[in-house]
Amino acid sequence: MKNCRILNIIFFTAFIIMSCKKSVAVVDNSGGNKKDSTVADTPPIDTTSVTGIHTYIQGGDTLIFLNNDPDFDTSMRTKYVNVFFIVYPEEAARFNPGTIKKVTFSVDTAYHDIAGTANGKVTFNPEYCRNNPNDVDVVTHEVMHIVQAYSGDGPGWLTEGIADYARYTYGVHNADIGWTVQPYSLTKDYTAGYGEAAHFLLWLEQNKNKQIVDILNNAMYHSIYAPSVWLTATGETLEELWADYGKNPALTEEKTPIGDATDLTVGSQISVTQENPDGYGSPESSFELNDNDIKSKFLLYGFQPGLSIRLKLKTPAVANAYVMTSGNDNPDRDPSNWLILASKDSANWTLLDGRPNESFAGRNTTNKYTFTNQESYQYYMLVINSTAGSGDFQLSEWRILQQ
Ligand SMILES: [Zn+2]
Repeated sequence: MKNCRILNIIFFTAFIIMSCKKSVAVVDNSGGNKKDSTVADTPPIDTTSVTGIHTYIQGGDTLIFLNNDPDFDTSMRTKYVNVFFIVYPEEAARFNPGTIKKVTFSVDTAYHDIAGTANGKVTFNPEYCRNNPNDVDVVTHEVMHIVQAYSGDGPGWLTEGIADYARYTYGVHNADIGWTVQPYSLTKDYTAGYGEAAHFLLWLEQNKNKQIVDILNNAMYHSIYAPSVWLTATGETLEELWADYGKNPALTEEKTPIGDATDLTVGSQISVTQENPDGYGSPESSFELNDNDIKSKFLLYGFQPGLSIRLKLKTPAVANAYVMTSGNDNPDRDPSNWLILASKDSANWTLLDGRPNESFAGRNTTNKYTFTNQESYQYYMLVINSTAGSGDFQLSEWRILQQ
């Protein structure tokens, strides 16, 4: 969580009443999406007393649940307990099989951040829990900090990045609240930690080294993290990796479908005659058009017909196809009438394709168009003459292909 911080709280040492030592299972009251069918559907013990100490034992792990808030909903407790017994063993098995077997959750009215973890104890703000009843994977992030058990001499951004990587990978209800990792942006780098760093780690895993997160976790755990870890694992420095990432930052599941064609757009530069008022690189600027992420879009309020979008390819190439991906909402903002032109010098332009009346079958939907061309050009231009009815314009992706 953004507000997560390592607390200097003294580990709870009060005598814990083991009210029930038999193996218990927990039930998910949140209405589905249960990830692990091995979690039996027996009700949790003692759902009647709200405050006090509750103990849950399953699969060799013990969860002590403390609560001092009489208004804390017991179904909320059940959700947290359920998520714990799903994700903690998964995170432990991969990242630290020797992690502690007894974890404490404390719902504490005196705690005012979202959640924080120290010394085997996660502290939750009941107010936050109440206002965000479906954000149960706050548990997944926080208990990853217990599994990490890093000494703290590695970079904090990486600790939080790996915790959000774990939430993304092992979280049970992320989709319910639309939680995901943060795509590449020009305004933040990996040092932002959390979702920004997690997206970078996922990209590295897909593009550079499948074991990268395990290697980093191991280095952090054994207090041997050094900048050379990146070089050893990937052949590139952290800065070189970040620069590579920026050229084509989408994760596999976010990428524009292009079939068997060669994507000429990677590493291209984009420019537009009308930019989002917050500037290039801001959310929903033209940066999003060639970032190869179909989930992010370029949006213009007050679109002016004749808008031209220009791609300068890394090297001149023969293009004979392109894809366009519609935005996530408002179909009337889709382009409906456009031209494609090309140039070798950005001064003299040749018309390659024209589409007077197009539409997209759905949201975040990619259409592919082909045309005839044998010439190699470095510059390609898309001129939008009209939208599907709106005075605003949006497009998620435009990519130039050779097939
Ligand atoms: Zn954290």
